[in-house]
Amino acid sequence: MEDAFDILIVGGGMVGGTLAAALAGGPWRVGVIEARPYGAPDQPSYDERNIALAYGSRRILEAVGMWPMISAEAAPITHIHVSDRGYFGAAHVDAREQGVPALGYVVANRLVGAALMPLLEAADAVELLAPAAVETAQDLGDEVEVRVNTSDGARLLRTRLLVAADGASSPVRQALGLTARTERYGQSAVIANVSVDRPRLGTAYERFTDSGPLALLPLGGERYSLVWTQREEAAAAVLEWSDADFLAALQERFGWRMGRFVAVGRRAAYPLLMVRAEQAWSGRTALVGNALHSLHPVAGQGFNLALRDVAALLEVLQDARDPGAAEGLNRYQRLREPDMARVIAFTDLLARLFAREAPLLGHLRATGLLAADWLAPLNRIMARQNMGLIGRPTHLGSGQEPAWHRT
Ligand SMILES: Cc1cc2nc3c(=O)[nH]c(=O)nc-3n(C[C@H](O)[C@H](O)[C@H](O)COP(=O)(O)OP(=O)(O)OC[C@H]3O[C@@H](n4cnc5c(N)ncnc54)[C@H](O)[C@@H]3O)c2cc1C
Repeated sequence: MEDAFDILIVGGGMVGGTLAAALAGGPWRVGVIEARPYGAPDQPSYDERNIALAYGSRRILEAVGMWPMISAEAAPITHIHVSDRGYFGAAHVDAREQGVPALGYVVANRLVGAALMPLLEAADAVELLAPAAVETAQDLGDEVEVRVNTSDGARLLRTRLLVAADGASSPVRQALGLTARTERYGQSAVIANVSVDRPRLGTAYERFTDSGPLALLPLGGERYSLVWTQREEAAAAVLEWSDADFLAALQERFGWRMGRFVAVGRRAAYPLLMVRAEQAWSGRTALVGNALHSLHPVAGQGFNLALRDVAALLEVLQDARDPGAAEGLNRYQRLREPDMARVIAFTDLLARLFAREAPLLGHLRATGLLAADWLAPLNRIMARQNMGLIGRPTHLGSGQEPAWHRT
């Protein structure tokens, strides 16, 4: 097997897999190293979660050829309702008012994995190594040498560009000595699918409660995907509650705007942290997705932001002779910086502002700033953020395919 690659992606999850699909059919020889076998029940990226995909993300997925495989199962969000428990009033964002068919779509992570696999398997220029794990990575200047453990034994690979898409704790980022700021929120997101008896089709809810923000994303019909932020120490107990206790607590926090919560599926908890790498690249390595920035899910922005990383990197690669050249990677960083800074600051502010212990919260509540009037500007920001329209548009963001898909 040939051990020289143009682009080697470590992590074949939601972001690394999407990047590989976008590169398929292009001029580069691409490798994807993924620690878990595809379809394994413990695959950490294509798991039980559902993702709120912004409208702008749909256009990126269209450009890389993934949208047709996802669209039939993607539930549109046509209305967003934001409220604060204990206070009257709510902020609303509506697709018609924003002039788009949908503000976004809800898609199961597993479905994204299932859509990616046929694309990658059919691509001659892409080699999938899974299960395989990176043992060491060394930047030699004109290439990066990567030692990988596969089920067939160790392999020494060489690449002109190494892309770290290996998640928030990114072993590649650490191996190459790239620094990242990590902050724990002391919270976990409890996720589950729930059913209600008076669904509001297409409406997504974000509700700030005294135990943390709670989001309900429409899955179609009476089914909703719940993301419920809890203090870390409380989350373990919430997982153990009986279904009846869980539904009663949820009902009490959310209220009756969709009638009664009648069923809950399997629950899981994700500890929440913010990770931000200080640089998007170093030497011949670029960071994307959670390896570059891992966000609190309060605003549903992590994967959407990551798709814009993918779009920016592709834009740079379209013009590149050497995919790992410093000039291109520096341009990648410049393209990403303003969008990342804005989304990270916005998400972190929301997460802290509505955390139970936030000292500002009492004051803000007391002054009524969290009531409907205060939410009006947030309403506009969220509409634009949720549609992925903030940040410099890239070719892919405007729906244009990568150059190699067009030929
Ligand atoms: C509860 C919750 C809800 C969310 N909701 C939303 C939402 O509504 N909208 C949104 O936009 N975002 C959302 N997100 C964020 C979204 O899930 C992430 O942005 C996304 O999963 C990041 O994908 P990734 O591929 O970068 O990282 P990961 O999903 O962590 O994948 C990393 C991959 O790398 C592999 N890997 C790790 N180490 C190695 C190694 N050494 N060698 C080889 N492979 C390795 C792993 O097996 C994995 O497949 C949510 C997150 C959470 C926790």
